[in-house]
This record gives sequence, C-alpha cells and structure tokens, in this order.
Amino acid sequence: MISAETGIGQVSFHIDGAWERPQGREMHPVTCPADGATIAEVPYADDSDIDRAVRAAHNAFLKWREVPVVDRVQVLYRYKALLEKHADEAAAILTRENGKTADDAKAEVRRGIQMVEVACGMPSLMMGETLNDVARDIDSQSIRQPIGVCAGITPFNFPAMVPMWMYPFAIAAGNAFVLKPSEKVPLTPARVTELLGDAGLPAGVMNLVHGDKRAVDALLHHPLVKAVSFVGSTPVAKYIYATAAAEGKRVQALGGAKNHLVVMPDANMPKTVEAIIGSAFGAAGERCLAGSVLVAVGDAAGPLLDLLVKRTKALVVGDGSKAGVEMGPLVTSEHCRRVRGYIEKGAAEGATLLCDGREFQCADGGFFLGPTIFDQVTPQMTIARDEIFGPVLSVMRVKTLEDAIELVNNSPYGNATSIFTGNGKAAREYSSRIEVGMVGVNVGVAAPMAFFPFTGWKNSFFGDLHAHGKDAVRFYTEQKVIMTRWF
Ligand code: NAD
Repeated sequence: MISAETGIGQVSFHIDGAWERPQGREMHPVTCPADGATIAEVPYADDSDIDRAVRAAHNAFLKWREVPVVDRVQVLYRYKALLEKHADEAAAILTRENGKTADDAKAEVRRGIQMVEVACGMPSLMMGETLNDVARDIDSQSIRQPIGVCAGITPFNFPAMVPMWMYPFAIAAGNAFVLKPSEKVPLTPARVTELLGDAGLPAGVMNLVHGDKRAVDALLHHPLVKAVSFVGSTPVAKYIYATAAAEGKRVQALGGAKNHLVVMPDANMPKTVEAIIGSAFGAAGERCLAGSVLVAVGDAAGPLLDLLVKRTKALVVGDGSKAGVEMGPLVTSEHCRRVRGYIEKGAAEGATLLCDGREFQCADGGFFLGPTIFDQVTPQMTIARDEIFGPVLSVMRVKTLEDAIELVNNSPYGNATSIFTGNGKAAREYSSRIEVGMVGVNVGVAAPMAFFPFTGWKNSFFGDLHAHGKDAVRFYTEQKVIMTRWF
C-alpha cells in the first residue's frame, strides 16, 4: 500500500489470512538501490507478533494436513498460473528493492515458478513404500507425513526464488509456513504471498512476518516451530543451525560462499569469458553461486585476461530497470561501502588492479560500483579468502590442475565451482576430486534446477537435507513405518 501523503509503501505482516500493520513497532526504511530513495517502511515483529503467526500456522496446519495431497496441489497449480500472469510485475518490484537488472529479476521469478512446478508433483514425490509378508501374514508400509509449522528465514539477494525453495514444498506436503524474509527486500515476498491467497490457500497456512534477529530468535525458540530453513551468511547460518538444533528442531542452514572458476589453457576462451562475466558480475556479484576467484592454470592467463578485461570495461552498469543495463547497483549504501573497502584492502595488500570499480560514476545517486578485477592475488590476501558479495573478481595463477584442486580444496567454503576446459579427462578429474557441492563444466553458474537439490558443502551448508529437489520432500515430511496383521 502506498501512502497518499508520503508516497512511501507501507509493509504489513500477513497472519492468519489478514494483512495487518501493528502499531508501535520499530519501523525501518526500505531503499531503492538505483537512486537511494526510501520506497517503503517495514515494521519489525516482536515476540508477540511471532507467537501470533506461529499459533495461526499451527491451527491452520491441523486442518490443512487433512486435505488430500491431490487437492493441496490444486492450489499450487493455480498459484503457478497467477505467478506466470504477474511475473513481470513481481520482477519490477524485485528490481526496485534489490537493484538487479530486469532480465535477472525475471529469470529469478522464473526459477521460483519452477520450484512451484516441482512441488505440484507432491502426490508422487511423497509416496511411501510397501512390502507384503515381511513376516507370516504381516505387511509393512512406510508413509510420509507433514511435520507441522515450518519457518523460513531468507536473504536479500533472491527475495522471490529463495523463499520458493521452501514454502511450495512445505505447503504441498501438508505443513503450514511462517516466512521471515530479509528486512532489506520485504516487498517482493509480500507480493508473492498475496498471490498464494488469491490462489485459494486457506488462511493461516502461509504467514509472513518481517524483522531482524529478534524476530528470528522468537521463531528459533518457539515450541510449535518444528523445522527451520535458513539461507544467508555463514556466521548466521552457523548460529541458526546450533540454536534450532539445540531446541530439537529439524534445520537446514545454507551459508555463504567463495566460488572458484578454474580455466585450463585449452578452454574455449571467448565462450569462457562470457561465462565468467555472467558468473562474477551478474546480479552485481550478490549471488552465493557467483564466481569470485578465477584460477588460471598454466599459460591460460595471457589470452584469457586480455579478452576478459576488454569485455569487463564494456559492461553497461546502471539502473537495473533500464533497457540494455547489464549490471545494477549493490543492495544498500552500507554494503556498497563494505565492498569498496575490500577493493581498498586488495590494493593495499599488493594485488594488481586491472579494472577498478571505484572509478564508476552515476549521476542518479544510488549504490553503484563498477566491475573490478584484481590480478596476482595470493592465497594469504583478504580478497582471496573472504566472501565479498560484490562485483570483484580475484585472479590467481597456478601451474597445474593439481595445484588448482589443492587451492580450491583449501577453501573453508564448498558451495560451487566451475572448470573451463576442452579436455574431458581434466573435467572428470576435477569434478570427482573437488570438495565442493555444485560443479560446473564449461558452465559459469552451476545452479541446480528445482528437481535437484542445492548441495553446498563445508561452511556453505549446515544440516543434512538440502533445499529443493527430493531433499525438500524429505526435509518437510516425517517418515512412519506401519506393520499390519489382520486376524
Ligand atoms: P544475512 O545472513 O545477513 O541475513 C539472512 C537472514 O538472516 C535475514 O532474514 C536476516 O534478517 C537474518 N539475520 C541477519 N542477522 C541475523 C542474526 N544475527 N541472527 C538471526 N538472524 C539474522 O544474509 P544477507 O546479507 O541477507 O544475504 C547474503 C548472504 O546470503 C551471503 O553470505 C550469501 O552467500 C548468502 N546466500 C547463500 C545462499 C546459499 O544457497 N547458500 C543463497 C543466497 C544467499
């Protein structure tokens, strides 16, 4: 809702099917990264708001779990149709609050819709198994049942898609959901939640609250919350995992990343450069699958860097809503300053700047940095180790594939990596020995489709069952084995 007096959007909670704006809560501004304007104000939930949302979800769960799964997924079929119809509108909201380009935003909504499509298969996905005569006259059957209220806590960089890694699967399986999206981007989750109501989801099955650590802590400690799905930075993921597990909840916590792109001398250089540009600078580097370290093997660096620097300097940076723009701003002024700080640190620690994003000027204000490339980066440098989460690519040079494997395996993160080569044996060797959960071969962003799980390793994931794919079905259901004998 936009206020007539201020022109500023008012963000509400969605609890038990009603949109509500409780009075007296802390309010925080939501900014448009392209020009720095305040576009909305978001209320932060307190413990009583979380308690109301969780209780509403619990009451709705008791009825929703009784709805046959074939009927539950009818709501998701209608939801998919509504998302298709409103995809461009949702993408425009996303660009306005997050900053990513219109094409990136549309692609994100499309990826979210694919999650809904897969969740529509829940009647097949949650089937159990049977075996007759496990003993004389005794049959055995395993079934999957929903677990109750599930909570989702999500980051700023995919406000449509990441929540959809969670709630379509949870809801289709018969659970109720409470979503606490990033307070930086509350508008897109509100719009896609509204469409769920339009699709006919009963009140209370999906609830939306906003806020910061206080709201998250209230969810983590609430006894009626049975499962917690988290996506965000590694320190918070570790905290969520430890806290929710100590409360006896099921938890999947996806963390940050430092992804390496390994380029062999026999790679197709023009195609590799295009893939690297998309990986390192797509969504301004604010992606957990972004390539942030380029590992040039042998004499790959010479022909690669010439092309890469030329292409990087030609990248069109600007307001993501404008046609032809290839890279938008960073999400907030604070984050922009943080990334700028990493560029300063890289230069101070002795890396060679090939492209300096600090030189980019934007007349409209906004939180902009141009794409940045450092060469001669060594493993000890801060820019080689920390997740920067911005458009900064560090080039490291190694002699052999063996050296590249050792370098990548020494990283504490294990989200994604890619190898670029024309040699199948090298690609096979790399894919098999690398201690990373998602691997691209001549693919710059190794994002699994909705029907596969999102398999980060090491400090990029805490838990057992990953997001989406068949893991999501296991995560959002409890197994039961029934032994039957009739006299
Ligand atoms: P973040 O960790 O700051 O915030 C994520 C969520 O946690 C938000 O909803 C936020 O309100 C909440 N939160 C923040 N601090 C908290 C605290 N101390 N206690 C409890 N809750 C807290 O992450 P972000 O800046 O929104 O997103 C960027 C990060 O997310 C990057 O590290 C990126 O790699 C990661 N990410 C990972 C994946 C993945 O699949 N592994 C996907 C997308 C983003």
